[in-house]
Amino acid sequence: MTVRIGITGAAGRMGRMLAEAISASDTPAALTAAIERPESTLLGADMGELLGGDTSGVSITADLADVADQVDVLIDFTVPESTLAQAAICAAHGLPMVVGTTGFSDEQAQTLADTTAAMPFCQASNFAPGVNLTFKLAEAAAKALGNSADIEIIEAHHRHKIDAPSGTALSLGEVVANALGRDLSQVAVYGREGRTGERDRDTIGFSSIRVGDVVGDHTIIFASEGERLEITHRASSRMAFAQGAVQAACWLVGQPAGRYDMQDVLADQESNL
Ligand code: NAD
Repeated sequence: MTVRIGITGAAGRMGRMLAEAISASDTPAALTAAIERPESTLLGADMGELLGGDTSGVSITADLADVADQVDVLIDFTVPESTLAQAAICAAHGLPMVVGTTGFSDEQAQTLADTTAAMPFCQASNFAPGVNLTFKLAEAAAKALGNSADIEIIEAHHRHKIDAPSGTALSLGEVVANALGRDLSQVAVYGREGRTGERDRDTIGFSSIRVGDVVGDHTIIFASEGERLEITHRASSRMAFAQGAVQAACWLVGQPAGRYDMQDVLADQESNL
């Protein structure tokens, strides 16, 4: 069965990459709907032509509700306000949803969870398989090193990114905080300036760099007296995120209602190897 996929944010950096990843997908999949914001100058444009290829027959439209019957699953990489609106439409149409958008406030995250509670829903701050392995390595390092190491997370992204720290950095922080029995909201330190005093051992520090066209770098440092362990992931193309999100979308179709993340997708596929 060919999985029919809709994309919101179709003309964005990730939206375009997702359209390419769908064409190249190993699992039979087709882009059947492309949605952009109502003010977009690209409404009506053909997605294939937008990507510099042949006409695809999929025109960019403004309302997911108008095309919901043409898709089996929606992938959303937009902005939090849009994601919440698209989630309500998915819930109304019983449409599984994959969300890669980051930067939700606590209140928005709760609204998203409530809206999508009764449908298959997959959300990840980072869909690259290597980042999901990084989470596992960081968890193992945190457990092995216990409370003997200072932990800091450094991330770098392109100048257009609108949220900080990145969703991936926050997820890394959650993973190690959980492994050490700490509450991230209590121990996170975001940047440092001025007379900070000595470092508190329990803190987990975050530093964000915004430069040029960096796709996404994440390093987690575990440092103690005399040695330092660093785990680094560097994304060199958005294709890693896009392929992971398409993989998640194809997997999500047919799953029971529930809340999933990329670890669930990868764990299920590894168990089938
Ligand atoms: P972008 O600005 O290039 O694209 C976002 C697109 O969403 C734009 O084209 C915009 O017009 C569109 N949009 C905004 N409101 C909309 C609406 N109401 N309806 C439909 N479309 C709407 O941004 P990007 O670099 O593609 O990133 C998008 C999001 O994905 C960000 O939150 C980013 O942090 C996140 N991201 C996540 C991952 C991951 O693996 N989870 C990877 C990369 C980026």
